[in-house]
Amino acid sequence: MSSPSSFKSRGWVFFNQWCAMADVHEPEIRSYNMSRIRSKDTRPEILVRNFLYSKGFRYRLNDKKLPGKPDIVFRKYKAVIFVNGCFWHGHEHCRFFRIPKTNTKWWHNKIRRNINNDIEQAKKLKGMGFELIVVWECELKPDKRSETLEKIEKQLMRRRQ
Ligand SMILES: [Zn+2]
Repeated sequence: MSSPSSFKSRGWVFFNQWCAMADVHEPEIRSYNMSRIRSKDTRPEILVRNFLYSKGFRYRLNDKKLPGKPDIVFRKYKAVIFVNGCFWHGHEHCRFFRIPKTNTKWWHNKIRRNINNDIEQAKKLKGMGFELIVVWECELKPDKRSETLEKIEKQLMRRRQ
């Protein structure tokens, strides 16, 4: 998981004002946002799901009762999977995570907030005894896909009683 330490804390206080302003005055941001909006059934998530289903795993999706509403939940194994988009979740040192050159500060704040939120939810889930598996979008590109999926399977198998 990425650490938020790479972001400067300066300007944080004004984050909400920034957001409000941006929403009203900056259609550029909004359209960018809309084009990348997170949906429940993003393709990378389906990949993971179908693979695990074919291996005999059964699961729930987007369990709202759990912190962070994990994408895939295995109650039986007390494990959850988050399939993270590299941009929205600020995947460090990843070529798919590039802060746009315009409104840079706004984007830094936005992504930092997402990262902090991820860390917070992860802590809660671990506190409840859940195994957390974070899969990055870039790890599901064709060249790394099978390696990644096998890794997830092994991690789940270890939770098998
Ligand atoms: Zn990535």
